[in-house]
Amino acid sequence: MKSKSLREEDPQVYQAIQNEIARENEKLLLIASENYASPAIMEAQGSIFTNKYAEGYPGRRYYGGCQFADVAESLAIERAKELFGAEHVNVQPHSGTQANMAVYFAFVKPGETIMGMNLRHGGHLSHGARANFSGIFYKTVSYGVKPDTGYIDYDEVERLAKEHRPRLILVGASAYPRTIDFEAFYRIAQSVGAYLLSDIAHIAGLVAAGIHPSPFPHSDFVTSTTHKTLRGPRGGLIMCKGQYAKAIDKMVFPGMQGGPLMHVIAAKAVALKEALTDDFKTYQAQVVMNASALAEGLVKRGFQLVSGGTDNHLMLVNLANKKITGQDAECALDKAGITVNKNAIPFDPLPPSVTSGMRLGTPCVTTRGMKEAEMDRIAHFIDEALKNTSDISKLESIKNEVKGLTSLFPIYQD
Ligand SMILES: *Cc1c(COP(=O)(O)O)cnc(C)c1O
Repeated sequence: MKSKSLREEDPQVYQAIQNEIARENEKLLLIASENYASPAIMEAQGSIFTNKYAEGYPGRRYYGGCQFADVAESLAIERAKELFGAEHVNVQPHSGTQANMAVYFAFVKPGETIMGMNLRHGGHLSHGARANFSGIFYKTVSYGVKPDTGYIDYDEVERLAKEHRPRLILVGASAYPRTIDFEAFYRIAQSVGAYLLSDIAHIAGLVAAGIHPSPFPHSDFVTSTTHKTLRGPRGGLIMCKGQYAKAIDKMVFPGMQGGPLMHVIAAKAVALKEALTDDFKTYQAQVVMNASALAEGLVKRGFQLVSGGTDNHLMLVNLANKKITGQDAECALDKAGITVNKNAIPFDPLPPSVTSGMRLGTPCVTTRGMKEAEMDRIAHFIDEALKNTSDISKLESIKNEVKGLTSLFPIYQD
């Protein structure tokens, strides 16, 4: 096989990638679930391991030639154990949703009940939403936040658990700005004999750095993605108590998946190595300080935040008092070079395609090296853009200012 560059082989895909590089460099990415993986991680993910079939687990594969795949996967497993203090780790799930699926399929029979956070209050699709497999195969009960405070209603969690006796309780969210009390969930799960699954997809980096309380040892299972605050390649991860190891591994393979994505697993190993460093701890602390600074900058400019602020890497802005929908805010900000996602707020009167809110997160801008001073500038840009949503030339001038700021913080430096 002759080796050709991507540019020669497929100029269209090459161009799309060039455009994406420019987009990620020039714009302010405030999507709370995104991050920039390091060049070393991308090198592993773009490696020759993509060629390898490795069904099975290290030391017990169904294919020959797995000796180096075994090295990469064992490194990923050992590093995840060390980082999180987990008894058992499976690094093969292709995504966070599939990590959750494996836990449900292994321990909850179709038709039994799972209980998770309401999607409209910040939960995830895979926690029992009707459009998702989790809501199709299982009876689902959902808890939410208190209307007056925006904090999880732990009394409701307890009441619903006692009433519905779920087989499994899920704790974890995609749009919840406050610290989660895993211990409270553990006590509730214990009192009704339910399994506790803590899904730390969003906060894994914070947990790894010791900035958010750990779901260990309170959880039977902990699932995560590797690409959000953890800053690795796109993928999933399952951690569990030793007694569940066999059932989980069997459900991931051969239960739900065939061959693991060995190139992604190699990249997960690199990401987990990075996560064990002091630099990573410093980074996560800055992510949280930046989120506080951005929240403060917005509140100062009259924005309302669900729960009044943030303890973690994200915040949920209630735009109702600004007389603009989440959809229109997302669109105007995009024209100003700022990428956010519209997001339902708890008890949102508008449909999910419109919403009254937007979700903002600081993992990406912090990876670029931005600090509190830049967060205040970003709050200023957002305020200006949302005051001038139909003034194209104003949005264009903010976009130029954004470009000026982002050019000072290139995403990948030499
Ligand atoms: C992002 C997320 C997931 C799953 O992510 P995938 O997109 O399937 O990788 C699962 N749970 C929570 C809470 C999430 O935020």
